[in-house]
Amino acid sequence: MLEITALEKRFDQTAVLRAIDLKVREAELVFVIGPSGSGKSTMLRCCNRLEEPTSGAIMIDGQRITDIPRRDLDRMRLKVGMVFQGFHLYPHMSVLKNVVLAQTKALKRPKAEAEARALEMLDQVGLKHKAEAMPNELSGGQQQRVAIARALALDPKVMLFDEPTSALDPELVGSVLKVMKDLRAKGMTMLVVSHEMAFAREAADRVVFMDGGYIVEQGTPEEVFGNPKSDRLKSFLARVS
Ligand code: ATP
Ligand code: MG
Repeated sequence: MLEITALEKRFDQTAVLRAIDLKVREAELVFVIGPSGSGKSTMLRCCNRLEEPTSGAIMIDGQRITDIPRRDLDRMRLKVGMVFQGFHLYPHMSVLKNVVLAQTKALKRPKAEAEARALEMLDQVGLKHKAEAMPNELSGGQQQRVAIARALALDPKVMLFDEPTSALDPELVGSVLKVMKDLRAKGMTMLVVSHEMAFAREAADRVVFMDGGYIVEQGTPEEVFGNPKSDRLKSFLARVS
């Protein structure tokens, strides 16, 4: 579903990603861990060309997205849902309008159809009853779930999450992780950068450890957490757990 081959990214002369190879199969949840500055966000951002790869190839849903001309990026980006740390909802619009807007604008979906789809996605994240609320009337965890519903309403082939819970108070983290677990059960393909190691153990199909722009190790959660091979992964796990 998503295949990264020999991906490199340099900012000026500094290599931030080096020879990244990574495959996310359909319906897989792949977790990315690693120290600050290791290149996790840059890798995710390359997957919808928010960041331009310096070299290498990325295939998504059978399309080589690294070859798409810049003027045609919008259509590709619809296939790649992205959820960040911040929620970036429109503060002056209701929850429902927030989820409808991208559909009517980017997909040209008729309003009634977009509203029906929005309510279905809000139901999936457990917030149908908040459809008429304004974003500032919601908790951070609820706002993040609206952001997820908004991304899902565009029918993405793959979802990218960059630290979706790190701006949340601890008691709100669980509700967002639950939504991600439900999505996995429904067969969504997901690439997730997160520090929620307990969640990775429980829900990830594979865990990828990045350091210094390289994928240093990858494997099942049992392999990566239970039997780390490299010293770098061992010391990272000792620091975070
Ligand atoms: P964190 O866990 O702190 O979010 P990360 O693993 O997501 O870290 P990135 O944000 O991908 O790391 O950054 C990787 C490296 O690339 C860092 O050294 C960062 O300073 C550098 N970098 C990122 N964006 C840019 C940019 N636009 N210009 C120059 N350097 C950048
Ligand atoms: Mg980051």
